[in-house]
Amino acid sequence: MPSDQAEVIIIGSGIAAAAAAYSILVETRRVNNLRRILVIESREMCGGGTGRGNGVLNCSPHEMFYRLRSTIGLHRAAALVRFQLAHIKVLRELCQGMDQDNAEFREREMVEFYLTERDRKIAFAKAHLFAQWVPEFKIATFKRDEARERFNVSQVVQGALSYDSATIWPFGFVNSVWHHLLRTYKQFLHIMTHTNVVSIDSLKGDP
Ligand SMILES: Cc1cc2nc3c(=O)[nH]c(=O)nc-3n(C[C@H](O)[C@H](O)[C@H](O)COP(=O)(O)OP(=O)(O)OC[C@H]3O[C@@H](n4cnc5c(N)ncnc54)[C@H](O)[C@@H]3O)c2cc1C
Repeated sequence: MPSDQAEVIIIGSGIAAAAAAYSILVETRRVNNLRRILVIESREMCGGGTGRGNGVLNCSPHEMFYRLRSTIGLHRAAALVRFQLAHIKVLRELCQGMDQDNAEFREREMVEFYLTERDRKIAFAKAHLFAQWVPEFKIATFKRDEARERFNVSQVVQGALSYDSATIWPFGFVNSVWHHLLRTYKQFLHIMTHTNVVSIDSLKGDP
């Protein structure tokens, strides 16, 4: 696809670019007005931060909620953390729906350990507050002896929290998305790798 035929140009091919391309193609097909997209990537596919990421899908919800509540208030903090937690469900469904799934999506139990009684108490207080605002998300708490027994950890551990989480392989996930889009929208998606964008100009008359 020559660049002057593209209606949308996306720079990069990491997770943000894949999300943009996916949304534009799905949405423009929904309204029967598919757009031609050109992706320009300076390295190989997914050769940036996404390709080096660990893929841990964890926002530490009680910590995030606690931090956000002071700036945006309790209601909006709860809504935002719910949105972040929804990533796990959405990614699971997306991986299941792709024709070639290399994402290696795995459900995981995330465990946070505390090495002082003070840190344990603070974390439990945050988890307790979070449970009042987002009760559907379960965080299990373990005091010192319970934590040692449950996780078979050393005597220095003073407590633990655990909750559902997940992992993906970011490089495999994003390349699966590109593969899926290239197959599904053959005429509407073109990708150029090893091509560096050096400048972006506004068209005459653009605001
Ligand atoms: C070691 C490591 C571990 C991480 N672990 C996690 C984790 O466990 N959980 C988590 O949520 N996040 C993690 N992250 C963060 C996460 O990977 C990044 O926030 C995310 O991948 C960023 O995606 P992106 O699409 O914005 O950027 P990128 O993936 O970096 O994509 C940008 C792309 O643009 C291309 N590009 C840049 N400039 C140009 C140009 N001028 N012309 C053409 N192409 C260009 C780059 O080559 C690159 O491919 C980790 C990151 C690293 C590095």
